[in-house]
Amino acid sequence: MDTPVIVVGAGPSGLVLAAELRLGGVEVIVLEKLAKRSGESRGLGFTARTLEMFDQRGLVPRFGEVETSPQGHFGGIPMDYSVLADAHFGARGIPQSRTEEVLEDWATELGADIRRGVEVVGITDDGEGVDVDAVGPDGPLTLRSRHVVACDGGRSTVRALTGFEFPGTDSTIEMFLADVGGCVIEPRQIGEKVPGGMVMSAPLGEGYDRIIVVERGTPPRRRTAPPDFTEVADAWQRLTGQSLHGGHARWVSSFGDATRQVTRYRLGNVLIAGDAAHTHLPAGGQGLSVSVQDAFNLGWKLAATAAGRAPDGLLDSYHAERHPIGARLLMNTQAQGMLYLSGVEMDPLRTVFSELMDDANVRRRLAGMVSGLDVRYDVGPGSHPLVGRRVPKVELVVGDAKTSTFGLLHDGRPVLLRLREGLAPAAGLAEHVKVVDAVPHGLPDDSPLCGTATLLVRPDGYVVWAGDDGSGLRDAASRWFGTPR
Ligand SMILES: Cc1cc2nc3c(=O)[nH]c(=O)nc-3n(C[C@H](O)[C@H](O)[C@H](O)COP(=O)(O)OP(=O)(O)OC[C@H]3O[C@@H](n4cnc5c(N)ncnc54)[C@H](O)[C@@H]3O)c2cc1C
Repeated sequence: MDTPVIVVGAGPSGLVLAAELRLGGVEVIVLEKLAKRSGESRGLGFTARTLEMFDQRGLVPRFGEVETSPQGHFGGIPMDYSVLADAHFGARGIPQSRTEEVLEDWATELGADIRRGVEVVGITDDGEGVDVDAVGPDGPLTLRSRHVVACDGGRSTVRALTGFEFPGTDSTIEMFLADVGGCVIEPRQIGEKVPGGMVMSAPLGEGYDRIIVVERGTPPRRRTAPPDFTEVADAWQRLTGQSLHGGHARWVSSFGDATRQVTRYRLGNVLIAGDAAHTHLPAGGQGLSVSVQDAFNLGWKLAATAAGRAPDGLLDSYHAERHPIGARLLMNTQAQGMLYLSGVEMDPLRTVFSELMDDANVRRRLAGMVSGLDVRYDVGPGSHPLVGRRVPKVELVVGDAKTSTFGLLHDGRPVLLRLREGLAPAAGLAEHVKVVDAVPHGLPDDSPLCGTATLLVRPDGYVVWAGDDGSGLRDAASRWFGTPR
């Protein structure tokens, strides 16, 4: 073996996965076909849950000042996210190129071996390990590893080479996106209808605006290169009457509404994550976030497997937990597409939907779905409301030091958090988990942590056990982190 794990693709999912493997103490090589980052702005931020996950690793200050807003939409219908306890959609206005830069720095600092200009062209899994054929700056090369993870995006080569089934529907429409400078463009909300289609614009800063143009009835084209700016400006003018032809674009792209998901997230020694596993309309800004959450889910499990400390079935829980989340992502982006891309024939449904969204329970449900805050994994028995859910961010005092539930997760280790002394004996557990005695600080009265003595939290921030008397704690620890001696 050249390395225990090869990750194919240094996009957001591949970079997070590489960093998580290093936190788990495992060597990793990342193979990326681009010699340097593309610089494309693509995902302009991330959802509330992904922001939390970056916070759990101490990454948020690296993004500078992070703007959040309670204002969002579902299918182009404005929606106020303040129905959620965390009261916002997520981080705004951070171009994906910046997110990738932060993640690449983080992964590199942790010791990930990122090799650029290396394109993977062949995969052979013989059951004992995987041979990866690639073409790099010095010509062809073959590397062998125990596991390979396909993080190589929507047109994944590894997915095709490995034989992952990828059912779903093809694109029905072509849409344009451009980051335009040199023009004054009024902001237009996503979902804004104009005769013949839909347009959107939002300022990006530094004199640029993001525009999206959708002309109804434009069939998808199999392009070998991005459209040129004139084509986009022509479409914008047909729909809005405004000419952008005097401006310029620093990035132009076309995209569609193809909706597909692999049926298995693991085939033998090859796993798959991010856009390679699920392709969908970029509606509601979820693609980057769900991809990153795949990687946070897989990283610690694969690290434990590669290091030989994983309990039985741990790696397969990746498919069990993340496939339903991907299916839900496809479902909600399709629904949003129907609401904001269709014509007048959908107006009655849009009206009914808008009325329903006046109800706080409906908003809570939709906001939970899009923000990723509603995820609840089946982690085993337990009646505590936090079991299977993310641990909330709560300030803590540990000894003389101040930290938080998220601060305890910075090193990517599981945590047994004891909030009351003398409860839940930790004997034998300390070999697998970090045992922390802490006093909550400023706990709101309605916090699910009120009255909770002890929590067992996975490295990705999900609670697998919570209680007062320790019953079931050893079983939960064994199931997720290995049997305590
Ligand atoms: C036009 C557009 C707008 C979008 N807007 C948003 C948005 O507003 N919000 C949002 O959250 N998401 C948005 N997305 C989606 C978001 O960009 C993706 O969900 C995200 O990039 C997925 O990350 P990933 O790491 O899984 O894949 P990618 O970012 O696609 O990364 C895959 C990497 O693998 C590399 N690679 C591919 N093949 C090989 C190979 N054979 N060998 C080696 N390397 C290879 C690629 O070069 C690439 O670097 C948008 C996407 C598009 C196209």
